[in-house]
Amino acid sequence: MSKNVSELQSAKQFLMINGEKIETAKYAPLFSPYSGEEIAQIAMADKALTAKAIEAAYNAREVMAKMPAYRRAEILEKVVALLKEKAEEAAEIITRESAKPIMFSKAEVARTIETYKFAAEEAKRIHGETIPFDAAAGGVGRFGYTVREPIGVIGAITPFNFPMNLVAHKVGPAIAAGNTMVLKPASQTPLSALFIAELFEEAGLPAGVLNVVTGPGGTVGEAIVEDDRVNMITFTGSPGVGIGIRNKAGLKKTTLELGSNSALIIDKDIKIDEIIDRCIMGAFSNQGQVCISLQRVYAHEEVYEEFVTKFTAATKQLKIGDPFDPETYISALISKGEAERVLGWIEETEGSTANIAAGGKLKDGILEPTIITDADHDLKVSCQEAFAPVVVVNKVRSVEEAVKEVNHSRFGLQAGIYTNSVKNALFASQELHVGGVIINDVPTYRVDQMPYGGVKESGTGREGIKYAVEEMTEMKLVVWNHS
Ligand code: NDP
Repeated sequence: MSKNVSELQSAKQFLMINGEKIETAKYAPLFSPYSGEEIAQIAMADKALTAKAIEAAYNAREVMAKMPAYRRAEILEKVVALLKEKAEEAAEIITRESAKPIMFSKAEVARTIETYKFAAEEAKRIHGETIPFDAAAGGVGRFGYTVREPIGVIGAITPFNFPMNLVAHKVGPAIAAGNTMVLKPASQTPLSALFIAELFEEAGLPAGVLNVVTGPGGTVGEAIVEDDRVNMITFTGSPGVGIGIRNKAGLKKTTLELGSNSALIIDKDIKIDEIIDRCIMGAFSNQGQVCISLQRVYAHEEVYEEFVTKFTAATKQLKIGDPFDPETYISALISKGEAERVLGWIEETEGSTANIAAGGKLKDGILEPTIITDADHDLKVSCQEAFAPVVVVNKVRSVEEAVKEVNHSRFGLQAGIYTNSVKNALFASQELHVGGVIINDVPTYRVDQMPYGGVKESGTGREGIKYAVEEMTEMKLVVWNHS
């Protein structure tokens, strides 16, 4: 581990309000989910300090709204350059606070760099359109156009599982669009958010534009959601918390990126050897703590046995252990409580038709990557979001049957289908009720400029920089009477 990281993380942390590092009366220790050792002391904000951060963001609105696009782009570009320089340190911070295996933390940092790069580019192409007024009899003699203006103060609440890139999906477009922010990162992963806030300061972002407040969701998060000076809430996290936010947000705009139990269909004509690596990545990267983690597979009966055999064999090869080991694929879940929850769900399958083909137990405190076959709909591992390295594999007789199974879910974020049949691919793309259909890859596929978001209980609104900028700006119409 680099010296920088140990220094950063043994230190007492701070809130970032109006460009200043603020200490709090109360601190809480942050523990490594893998080793249990204390890694930092985190500042615990109360409602009054959260209000102070909101006030700073509110007062900085004018400065940000008047900042020209090229300048907003320059600041974001500077963050890209700084993060490239500090990529190693950034990856170590993610691994330290979340137990994400270092190979995946490095990949997250690379994506975060791309996300801010897309934001820098997007800052320069925010525009409206002209309206053909004379298409209406009452519009003759009028000329008009729309412009997109910043929405104002954005409250961003983020989860633990991609602590740097999901922050980037909120901070990047908010700044590209000329907004100010109060960011509340997940309590288990505040270090990467504070690290990014320091890069923005170094990049010349004016004081008060990005404020970071750490502390419990029920205190800090709720204070942000309920404050009238906040114009929009952008939330990524669990459906339960998201629905609560929606109920309290009143007239504030809300975008909610919530959970899923994402599914993959495997058609009969697929060469199984060619898809095993992608299925392993889809189901088990970051211990399955990915909102589009592959949780359900529906394999055609002609390839089902071969898929289960090969997928199980590959799963048993995965290296489990210390997240800092470059070869580790699976490490600890975010907390012991989460591991116990998932073990309970696995136990629930006993006495049902389901069969555990791989894993299902703890090994040195780490949940083994687990494959369950023939699992009934109503089992929690099928119908709820596992958010763990657990995947169920079921047999189907046709793509039609598989599509019905995929749609039999409260969630609808992304779904994948492997098929060589254009007819089946088209059918799936039309019939799957999800935010994104991925043809010939796992549902876990994502790059950061694509529109991303769900239907049903997976949320409302879209991220992916251009689409988030749309959500974070308001359309204004200007009409000229030249008659
Ligand atoms: P949580 O919903 O537990 O927490 C998310 C954030 O909300 C945290 O910052 C949390 O703070 C905060 N929070 C908690 N309670 C409140 C409250 N009452 N009011 C306001 N904010 C609150 O989610 P996790 O961090 O456990 O993340 C996992 C979830 O995120 C999964 O369901 C996953 O599917 C989803 N997710 C969705 C994605 C998408 O794009 N659709 C992407 C990634 C994850 P604190 O940590 O202090 O409790």
